[in-house]
Amino acid sequence: MPPTAAPGTAADSAAHTAGRGDVVLSQVTKTFGSMTAVHDLDLEVQAGEFLSMLGPSGSGKTTVLRMIAGFEDVTSGSIRIGGDEITRIPPHQRPVNTVFQDYALFPHLTIAENVAYGLKVRGQSRAARQAAVAEAIDQVRLGHVADRLPHQLSGGQRQRIALARALILRPRVLLLDEPLGALDKQLREEMQIELKRIQRDVGITFIFVTHDQEEALTLSDRVAVFNDGRIEQVGTAREVYEYPQTEFVARFLGLSNILPAPVAEKLTGTAAAISIRPERVRLLERDADAPTTAGDVVVEGTVAEIVYTGPTTRVLVDAADGLRLIAETQNTHHPAADVHVTRGDRVRVAWAADHAAVLP
Ligand code: ATP
Repeated sequence: MPPTAAPGTAADSAAHTAGRGDVVLSQVTKTFGSMTAVHDLDLEVQAGEFLSMLGPSGSGKTTVLRMIAGFEDVTSGSIRIGGDEITRIPPHQRPVNTVFQDYALFPHLTIAENVAYGLKVRGQSRAARQAAVAEAIDQVRLGHVADRLPHQLSGGQRQRIALARALILRPRVLLLDEPLGALDKQLREEMQIELKRIQRDVGITFIFVTHDQEEALTLSDRVAVFNDGRIEQVGTAREVYEYPQTEFVARFLGLSNILPAPVAEKLTGTAAAISIRPERVRLLERDADAPTTAGDVVVEGTVAEIVYTGPTTRVLVDAADGLRLIAETQNTHHPAADVHVTRGDRVRVAWAADHAAVLP
């Protein structure tokens, strides 16, 4: 489906502008009274990209999404889509559509009527609507429920219909505000895979708000990590996870060992704090388990705690200078690879120096 918008609107002209830097926010600030929710934010989203805005509650991600949608005015700065300045134009003239966490389907309309609704408002003929509805419902693989009412669908199915209803309007950019937030964990994980497939199929730019780090890593081409109204880091899932640039990013994206600068300097010679992921830290249980490469950092300590998580076991090791390190091992059920230590054992842990991220 080509990303187009309603003919003749400002959105339509935006849709025909060539696409690098599809959505560009420049120095966007938003204040509510004396409170600044978004500080001087720059962000560029490429055409066809799946970008997640990830951050804790109150970090400003929803406010940014709402400013792109036009539901919220910007206090200063500008927003461009497809090269066109849209900062001051009303929401319905922007080439965007929003999917919310509460599906907001009309309860007394069938699924097909719900999906057709936007086209009907735009004055499309019944015949044109029917073909488009069939295509949109197929895209979310729910052709077999077209005649049902919303309450006859599961939560995941309703969310897919909400998606179909937004996609049928062929927005240039789809904004998604925690769309999977109401689903239980298993359904949520299934829907993540489904959402990624749909985005690949339709090729539309997706901007997705979530506070769930695993979800952001799973879905996104790039992740923008928000903290206190600012973006701390933007990068691919691998970049933000493996090479966090700040302590906040290291801690927000899963478990991390943070070594403060003085400790890091003693151990590695680097005069800056470092972050090393627990799965990169190897437990050397016996003297014979020597580190294998010259670039390894080796730390001695005492086993303080052993935590079984199912797929992994985490061993917490107390070392000198009040340092507690976590080493995480995959539970392969291969006797040689499993963890055999007990609390109080003296052990060493090691990691390859280049697996640690330096926190400027
Ligand atoms: P959440 O995940 O909880 O939705 P968020 O990261 O999306 O959080 P925002 O909803 O963007 O954060 O809120 C950012 C800040 O702006 C918060 O401190 C919030 O209280 C404030 N805020 C948001 N909307 C308004 C409003 N209409 N009036 C006043 N303050 C607001």
